[in-house]
Amino acid sequence: MLELRYDPTKNQFVAVATKRQNRTFHPPKDFCPLCPTRPEKMQTEIPESDYDVVVFENKFPTFSRFPDKLSLGKLDSEALHGGKLASEEEFLPYIKKESKGICEVVCYTSNHDLFLEDMPEKKISNLIKVWMDRYAELGGKNYIKYILIFENKGKEIGVTLSHPHGQIYAFPYIPAVILEELKSSKKYYRRNKKCLHCKIIEREIKDKSRVIIKNNSFIAFIPFYARWSYEVHIYSLRHVGSLYELKNKEVTSLAKIIKELINRYNKLFDFRMPYVMVIHQNPTDNKNYNYYHLHFEFYPPYRTKDKLKYMAGCELGAGTFINDTLPEEKAEELRKVNCV
Ligand SMILES: [Zn+2]
Ligand SMILES: [Zn+2]
Ligand SMILES: [Zn+2]
Repeated sequence: MLELRYDPTKNQFVAVATKRQNRTFHPPKDFCPLCPTRPEKMQTEIPESDYDVVVFENKFPTFSRFPDKLSLGKLDSEALHGGKLASEEEFLPYIKKESKGICEVVCYTSNHDLFLEDMPEKKISNLIKVWMDRYAELGGKNYIKYILIFENKGKEIGVTLSHPHGQIYAFPYIPAVILEELKSSKKYYRRNKKCLHCKIIEREIKDKSRVIIKNNSFIAFIPFYARWSYEVHIYSLRHVGSLYELKNKEVTSLAKIIKELINRYNKLFDFRMPYVMVIHQNPTDNKNYNYYHLHFEFYPPYRTKDKLKYMAGCELGAGTFINDTLPEEKAEELRKVNCV
């Protein structure tokens, strides 16, 4: 069953997707559904014998192009059809919305062991162009309001397939975290007639202590307000709202900075650093978001070589993250990593 349930206490939706319970969990090493189909072997998700980048719809989606028809609960249905409990004062309706959206899987490469950071810059640029294309294509549909491009990497994050891949969720609404960022950015813009994010970049460049990498078009830094020890945000230096506005040379700079950042993560503790990577960009509901600014956010769960950070009482129950480390010190560690 797929449906969206509205939480009136937190003003946000919860996506119910019960089919996901049965999704593939750590299949045997010799069968990877994201590898190309080999001659005389079981067919994978990709029938071809080789590929560059492949995008296909998720078999266990959270949203669907053809969502289930909404069914009302007994009380709601009585209220609606019986008419005896008509007003909200007498009866609190529980609001549901169709889970109408699209979930895609993006396989970065046909090579099972070639991670994003191992790929040549040109291939990463190519992947960025695929992201741009999907943003435009999915975002062009009238029922799609937000495109979340992300990657979950590593078993620590609960990733079920190790083959290098990311995901795209095309939402039928603007999700809560983005709404919050939009609200703050809009407020700042109204007051100062400037982009909040451009000002953050300006401050980080002046301060230097949290900057890890800066190239022609992008900057990577641990934010002053980082929630995770090694949380890094990558911003475009030019004020752009989405990947789609990037020029060719900016795409190359972005590929370079992503590759270098992940390689620095990996060299820090001498293992492939797990992380969640998300791309924050303009919603696709055709409204004006000139106060918003394209950026990537990376959240690696490690706080030391052998300690993970967990979301617990304070984070989950109050929304306040406790960071056990200083962003300035962690940025220095990442800067010092010997990265050729
Ligand atoms: Zn594979
Ligand atoms: Zn800006
Ligand atoms: Zn953000």
